[in-house]
Amino acid sequence: MRILIVEDERHLRETLVGLMQKCGYRADAAADGERGLDCALSGIYDVVLLDVMLPRLSGLELLQKLRSEGVHVPVLLLTARDEVEDKVRGLDCGADDYLTKPFSTEELCARVRALSRRQEPLQSPHLSFGDLSLSPHTAALSGPGGSVSLGPKELALLEQLLRAGGRIVSKEQLTLKIWGFEGEAEYNNVEVYVSFLRKKLAFVESRCEIRARRGLGYCLEARDD
Ligand code: CA
Repeated sequence: MRILIVEDERHLRETLVGLMQKCGYRADAAADGERGLDCALSGIYDVVLLDVMLPRLSGLELLQKLRSEGVHVPVLLLTARDEVEDKVRGLDCGADDYLTKPFSTEELCARVRALSRRQEPLQSPHLSFGDLSLSPHTAALSGPGGSVSLGPKELALLEQLLRAGGRIVSKEQLTLKIWGFEGEAEYNNVEVYVSFLRKKLAFVESRCEIRARRGLGYCLEARDD
C-alpha cells in the first residue's frame, strides 16, 4: 500500500508521513498542488491525503484535474474546521471522505484503512491492455501465444504500465513504486527489467510493446500491423 500526502505545512506533512509509515504503508509527500497532481496522476497510489489550501494549485483544483484524467484513487480531504463549504465542494469534486483538522491519529488511520478497503472490490482481478492480461495475484502474464510467470519486480513494473493504460509512466515513478525511496542506486535497473519484460511479451506473442519515450518514461503501445 502506497499513500500520497499533499500538504504544504512542513510539520504536518512530516507527521503524516511518519504516521502512515507507522501504520505499515509506504508514504510519499508533495508540498504543493502542482507536484501533488504530478504524483497523483502516476496512478501508483492506493490512497491520497489531500490538504485543501495549497500553493500553486488548490486541493480542489488538483482533485478536479485528477478525476477529469480518469484517475479514481480514493482521496481523503484534510480541511480546516471553518472550511465547511470546501467539504461540500470537495465531495462534489470527487473526494471520497474528509477529515477536519486537528484530527486524532486513530481516526486518520481508520479512515485510510476504510478507503483502501473500499478500493479493493473495484479492482479487477485481471489487468489488461490490448491482447495482454495480467493477474497480479498469481503474477501470470497471458497473451495470444500462452502464459508466463513474472518475477516480483517485473510484476510491479508491468502492473504500473498496465494501470496507466497507455499513458507514459516516468522512470522516477517506476523506480519509486518498485524500490521505494531507497531506490536511487537502482535507477538504471528499470531498463534491465524493461528488457526482461520485453522478452516475456515476445514469448507470449503479444502485439503490445513497451515503448521508451526519451526523457519522459515508458508506456505500453499496441501494434496494429
Ligand atoms: Ca495548507
